[in-house]
Amino acid sequence: MKRIFNFNAGPSTMPTEVLLKAKEELLDFKNSGISIMESSHRAKLYDEVHNETIELIRELYQVPEDFHILFLQGGASLQFAMVPMNLYKGGVAEFADTGSWSAKAVKEAQIQNIKYKIVASSKDSGYDHIPKDIPFSDEADYAYITSNNTIYGTQYKTFPKTKSPLIIDASSDIFSYPVEWENIGMMFAGAQKNAGPSGVTIVIIRKDLTQRVKENVPTILRYKTHAEKNSLYNTPNTFGIYMLNLMMKWLKSKGGVEGIAKINEKKAKILYDVIDKSEGFYKGHARKDSRSLMNVTFNIKNKDKELEEKLVKLAEENEMIGLKGHRSVGGLRASIYNAMPIEGVKKLAELMEEFAKEHR
Ligand code: PMP
Repeated sequence: MKRIFNFNAGPSTMPTEVLLKAKEELLDFKNSGISIMESSHRAKLYDEVHNETIELIRELYQVPEDFHILFLQGGASLQFAMVPMNLYKGGVAEFADTGSWSAKAVKEAQIQNIKYKIVASSKDSGYDHIPKDIPFSDEADYAYITSNNTIYGTQYKTFPKTKSPLIIDASSDIFSYPVEWENIGMMFAGAQKNAGPSGVTIVIIRKDLTQRVKENVPTILRYKTHAEKNSLYNTPNTFGIYMLNLMMKWLKSKGGVEGIAKINEKKAKILYDVIDKSEGFYKGHARKDSRSLMNVTFNIKNKDKELEEKLVKLAEENEMIGLKGHRSVGGLRASIYNAMPIEGVKKLAELMEEFAKEHR
């Protein structure tokens, strides 16, 4: 068996232990004689997986009892539309624009013709930082942020302390550090970066907010529907949720989000150190105070495309894939989510150092 280091931004690397466990259980889940994929979503066999996954998330992420934990479909992108549909109540929705994904969320608010305001943006500087002291008002229907900007490699170090419910797109950093839930109204994430395969969207929403929804919102698009039916209103992505279950057990074995947060800091430091000590050969895209621990984005001096491509290729030859930056910004990006082993990061760091020496 060959396993290489996968630095893709998502879908992305998963722990070998998790994949092996899924393989072991694939044909005969817990002596049932069938695969969990083949189980009815109403059967006890699946039901236990479903509820255990919710419990694991609640325990590991310390989600208070006044939040529902939901498993939806349609990706994080559907949440861009569902948030205004369900949570706007006639006032104003406020957004911090820190990258393409928040811009897409704003666009869905525009389409729905709701009153919105972009209260801070880092667009003018190429989305290279998270704005400081974002002036969210106290009266907004909700305040919206993207905790980690996958494309630009920026990340909030602490969440704004809003009076209105804070809505967080945590698609690329969910479960990577402990969260304080006080002012959070809802957090959502596509699972395919830090939590499992694509096709499951995790929504953690304060129970009272599910009641805001208006009569003209289709049943399937209401948080209320999914909350009342424990995410079993229709057939959920049962296999995806099973994989999420294995991922949460793996996370627990790593000391939970507290444990993984320490490892994530270490991993990111290794790569940022290489960038900072390269005497300008590598240039990080994000300002230092906004650097993401999940997506390390950088260019080679003078944005030398040829050298950048050469490094991506060399990495591939050395069994490290997925280092090409997002098509909209170019450069390089190393996505080092929870499941990326520190060995992979060290191996990449060594290659980058050697490459810089050779081409300086
Ligand atoms: N938000 C963020 C921060 C993302 O990184 C992504 C995907 N890369 C999305 C939303 C969109 O997710 P999906 O493809 O699941 O709709």
